[in-house]
Amino acid sequence: MSIASTCSAASAFKKLIAGNNRFLTDERKPTSPELMLELAKNGQKPYAVIVSCSDSRVVPEMIFDSDLGELFVIRTAGNTVDDYCLGSIEYAVAHLGCRLVVVLGHTHCGAVAAALGGVRERHICHITDRIRAAIGNEKAPGRACELSIRSTLHQIENDLTERHDVRYVGGIYDIATGRVDFFEDLREDE
Ligand SMILES: [Zn+2]
Repeated sequence: MSIASTCSAASAFKKLIAGNNRFLTDERKPTSPELMLELAKNGQKPYAVIVSCSDSRVVPEMIFDSDLGELFVIRTAGNTVDDYCLGSIEYAVAHLGCRLVVVLGHTHCGAVAAALGGVRERHICHITDRIRAAIGNEKAPGRACELSIRSTLHQIENDLTERHDVRYVGGIYDIATGRVDFFEDLREDE
C-alpha cells in the first residue's frame, strides 16, 4: 500500500461527510498495524486540515471517523488561531499537500459563551477578545459561533492568499447529535 497522492478539496470534503456518517451510524473502521508501519516508513499525507475547539466533546478524528495520517488537526479553545496555528496550517498546505481547510465550531462552546459573558482573565482574554471582535453586538450563541468561525476562516484565507487551489469551509458540530453542518457543500467542487 502506498500513500495516496494529493487529495482535491472536493474529494477531501466527501471523505469528511462519509466519515461523519460512519460516526453517526457506528460503522467506524479499525486502524491496522500495517498502516502505522506504512505511515512511519513513508510519511503522512493528510487530506484535510481541521481547526477545531479543544472542547473534550469535539474530537475531529472521531467525528470524521478518520484513520491515522488522514487529518491534520489544530485545536484551541474557541477554534481561534494565532501565528503558531497559522504556521501549522501553512505547513500542512505547503508541505503535506492538504487542499481543504475546515474551521469547525460546535454547539454549546464555552469560549463563545465566555466571550458573550465578557470574561477577561489572564491569558483567556486573548481568546475571548478575538471572539468578541468577531461577533460584534451579536448575543445569540449560535449566530455568534458562526460569526467567530467565519472570522477565523477569513484570518486563515488572508494568510494563505497565494494558494488558489485550497478551499476553506466552516462547519458546526452539534455535540448532542454528532452531526456536522458545513456552511457550504463542496462535493461538486471538482
Ligand atoms: Zn468550544
